[in-house]
Amino acid sequence: MVAATQQETQVPPARRWRGNAAVGALAATLLITGVLALSGAPFLLPALVGAIVIAVAALARPRAQRQMAAEMTLSQENVRAGIQAIVSGFADPVVVLDAQGNVTMFNAQAKAALPQLGIGRPLSFAVRSPEVVSAVERVLREGAVAETEFHEKVPVERSFEVRATPVRFDAAPAGATSSAIEIVMLFRDVTAARRLERMRVDFVANASHELRTPLASLYGFIETIEGPAKNDPAAQARFLAIMREQARRMSRLIDDLLSLSRIELKEHVHPTEDVRLDSVLSEVVDTLTPLALECRTKIVLEGANRVLVTGDRDELIRVFENLIENAVKYGQSGGRVDVALVDGERAASVTVRDYGPGIAPEHLPRLTERFYRVDVAESRQKGGTGLGLALVKHILNRHKARLLVRSELGAGASFEVVFPKPQGGESPGA
Ligand code: ADP
Repeated sequence: MVAATQQETQVPPARRWRGNAAVGALAATLLITGVLALSGAPFLLPALVGAIVIAVAALARPRAQRQMAAEMTLSQENVRAGIQAIVSGFADPVVVLDAQGNVTMFNAQAKAALPQLGIGRPLSFAVRSPEVVSAVERVLREGAVAETEFHEKVPVERSFEVRATPVRFDAAPAGATSSAIEIVMLFRDVTAARRLERMRVDFVANASHELRTPLASLYGFIETIEGPAKNDPAAQARFLAIMREQARRMSRLIDDLLSLSRIELKEHVHPTEDVRLDSVLSEVVDTLTPLALECRTKIVLEGANRVLVTGDRDELIRVFENLIENAVKYGQSGGRVDVALVDGERAASVTVRDYGPGIAPEHLPRLTERFYRVDVAESRQKGGTGLGLALVKHILNRHKARLLVRSELGAGASFEVVFPKPQGGESPGA
């Protein structure tokens, strides 16, 4: 929790001056009355009493005001300390702004979500969102609550619901107009909820399209088996084999979609296990050797031993299964796939290289988009769902690892995964 700037605790100069004036008035009155007394004036006694009453009254009023001001300042400090305690107790990010839109308080959650936050700095330094800036302006202008949302794409996609509430913090007496407006900004991380919403929309648009083709073919074969092929066992056996393949395709698609949504939901939670990359790779190569034989391709695994990274073993298996299977399927014509593991001081990397037809440069930036394929028919024919590299990308984001794709038409393709290693002072998986 970061405290706001210190409040002024002394009596203001104007009030101090009034107090001094009263003392001066009392002294002057006593002096004049004294002179009159010495001169033996007849109205001596009433004048003396009157002067003392006036002077005491003049002195008493500023003193009361001075005491009230000091109490008010103390109670302002108490109020602010209380507000700070409340702000730091919130589980969601909370930021308090002054009437100029500058930050006066925030809690640890806010600093974690918006690292650029700083006391005395404008909120816009930390939240680069025109919607949030205009919500703050609206609150200052209208004095009413304003709500908005803001989204960020880098370094990871995040969405926040923002509620800005005007508050008067100082302890001015009722009816006083001097209290300055401040704004309490409450941020609610709705990233997971928004992702789910978008996933549902994507699912309806893309998955229904992907599922329609095998489903239509299943219907067609069922009708054929019930009708024209009713008494043809050989044709039935042939159609049933195709139907099994179509059903398998549908279930692969659903598996991939579910994996993708699970990974996306926990994308901003970094894994913490120690995983041996060399053992992950040899397990994947063993699993894919039958497919490679079928495709008349050889997988060659070489490189360092005992390479440790921070990660989730099952997810890393998924990553290298996808990359090596793609290299075998699409790079089949090259007859060879190289898998190289390099262990460096700052990073460990795995490169999967094939010698197939390669990928034209215009496709490279879009390869990790869901359902993006260079050749849809070829992908379907090879049992692809168009989700493999999207899954790879999301798993690697969760691991803070990078995927580098290099390819040229006719020169094969290489997919390199780089795992940065925690450097001095960094905690693994942080
Ligand atoms: P799919 O399930 O279709 O294989 P991916 O997301 O794994 O989906 O890959 C997306 C597309 O990228 C593939 O359809 C294919 O066109 C292309 N691709 C991936 N790997 C390679 C490769 N090694 N060589 C050529 N093209 C590739």
